[in-house]
Amino acid sequence: MYSQDAISGHRRGRPEPTAEMVSGLACLICGTDYRNAPDADAVVVSHRDDKQLLACHGTCARLASGSVTGLEETPLPLAERLRRHRADQR
Ligand SMILES: [Zn+2]
Repeated sequence: MYSQDAISGHRRGRPEPTAEMVSGLACLICGTDYRNAPDADAVVVSHRDDKQLLACHGTCARLASGSVTGLEETPLPLAERLRRHRADQR
């Protein structure tokens, strides 16, 4: 799914999150891929289309949500996020 902004061009500002970010598989801020960093401490910082957007606990979470711990919400397990991500790619 593409937002109107993504279609209408190359605006300055925050780039569109990648599919991995939207699926909670990568940090929204620094882009760390949690599939390659299973020990990374990811926290929920936002939502998009009913999905959790994650960022690394600490600086990334604070940039994304204003709090180093993000929202008071437990992220889905990585395996579940991965399963949903694959389902979306079909
Ligand atoms: Zn990060």
